[in-house]
Amino acid sequence: MKCPVCGAVYRPRKGSRGSIEQGNHDHSGSSSSLTCRRCKADLSDLCRLSDQAIWYHKQALDLCTQGRYPEATAQNNRAIALYYSNADFHALAGKLSALQGEFPQAISSWQQALKFDPQNAIACNCLQVIELIGKNIRHC
Ligand SMILES: [Zn+2]
Repeated sequence: MKCPVCGAVYRPRKGSRGSIEQGNHDHSGSSSSLTCRRCKADLSDLCRLSDQAIWYHKQALDLCTQGRYPEATAQNNRAIALYYSNADFHALAGKLSALQGEFPQAISSWQQALKFDPQNAIACNCLQVIELIGKNIRHC
């Protein structure tokens, strides 16, 4: 994710939390104040939003594997609303649209995913497949 203030790329560390702290008072549990290394902006709200968005995205993935596409789309849209610049969310949105036969919507979602992450494998592959299908249809 990016710092909204200065644009520095920020990666939350996972798993290695609290091991070095010297007997802290442990008053709030999640007192890890996350600040941008470059501009010192407070990023804890952003992290919380991102965590929430990823949670919605995982719900969407679960619903998708169960074939509950409209519900999956709703959950994934919540994820996108919270954290718009995650390519994976848009890639899944594209997949869900395609599964429901909405190919123009799917293509625009995948293009959005590639805008945020040009290497996004799902979006890249799917767009190629769709383009091939499109060409074949036009030839018929
Ligand atoms: Zn910053």
